[in-house]
Amino acid sequence: MVYPMAKVKVVVDRQTCIGCGVAPATCPEVFVLGADNGRNRVVDDYSVKLDETISIGEVPEDLLDCVKAAAEACPVSAITYELIK
Ligand code: SF4
Repeated sequence: MVYPMAKVKVVVDRQTCIGCGVAPATCPEVFVLGADNGRNRVVDDYSVKLDETISIGEVPEDLLDCVKAAAEACPVSAITYELIK
C-alpha cells in the first residue's frame, strides 16, 4: 500500500515581510519575491492562496528542511509552517 506523502502548510505574512530576499535565497524551491509588491510568497507550483497580505502554500514534506531554514533565517519571523497530512 502506498501512503500519500505528508505535506507542509507554509504561511507567509506578507505585511510583516520586509522583502529582504533571504527566504528566496535560502529556499528558492519554495519562495520567491512577488512581482506584485516585492514581498515574499510561495512559488506558483505550491501556492494555494495569494494576495498582497498573505501567501499560503502546501509543499511536499521533503522540502521541510528548506522551509525551516528560511523561516529560521527570516529577520522578522514572517514565515510559519506545520505538517498537515
Ligand atoms: S526572510 Fe522574511 S523578511 Fe526576508 S524576504 Fe523572506 S519572509 Fe520576507
